[in-house]
Amino acid sequence: MQIKLVACDLDGTLIDGIPILPEVKEFIVKIRQRGIKFVINSGRSLENILDILSQSKVSCPAGYPEAIISKHGVFIHYLKGQIYVEDEEWNKARQKELKILKQEIGWKSKLWEKIIEEKFKIYPVSKNIDYGVFAVSFKKNEEAEKIKKVLLKDSNFKYTTFLRNRFFLTAALSTTQKGSSLARVAEHFKIPPSQVLAIGDSQNDEHMLNGKYGFIPAAPSNAEDNIKQLVRSQKGFVASLPEGKGVIEIVSSLLNGSKS
Ligand SMILES: [Mg+2]
Repeated sequence: MQIKLVACDLDGTLIDGIPILPEVKEFIVKIRQRGIKFVINSGRSLENILDILSQSKVSCPAGYPEAIISKHGVFIHYLKGQIYVEDEEWNKARQKELKILKQEIGWKSKLWEKIIEEKFKIYPVSKNIDYGVFAVSFKKNEEAEKIKKVLLKDSNFKYTTFLRNRFFLTAALSTTQKGSSLARVAEHFKIPPSQVLAIGDSQNDEHMLNGKYGFIPAAPSNAEDNIKQLVRSQKGFVASLPEGKGVIEIVSSLLNGSKS
């Protein structure tokens, strides 16, 4: 199987905590020597991702990740020399949409907080709720999934959707997610989607794993059950090992031509 680009979610996929495991870093260096590009596709902010890379002692001169997709596909940055340079056209368009999202949500975020606590008697572990902002952590994945469905059903927004990363639920842009942004990055590197391997573990990765963009989908063993099912239904690869070790297993197995 020809793979020219590996795009990896961060939390629960490449890492189980900070730093990135040394064997995972060594593996990325090895695949890059074979001409494969490595891209991080995370819901975290760019600053946050760069901080994790720096704590893992991966600095720009290492030459990877060649691109970073942050905030669930909202922002794209490419490594140019020593710094990450933004995809100006893409990022500017998303910034405009984010402004509309903020207005769309407005103070409805406070109303959702009320519904969650008063109607459903579910009490978030932590929350960031403000004008145009809604990001909530629950005790269980199931609680986050339940509330996600309620909010999706109740709201009819053009620019807003809800994404769940395990027990964390956030309002996010509906216009782009991890799949469409990865398609943009693949196009930038002139790599066909069929040579792009996308690896993720939770609901917020569905967009790049569901076959819509033509990537090869894969998941580590710790991925949520429905994500593993989705990957199998798309004839992708589900690892027997978790997180970073699973990523090594996935990439080496696919490069050696075997599939699980
Ligand atoms: Mg994840």
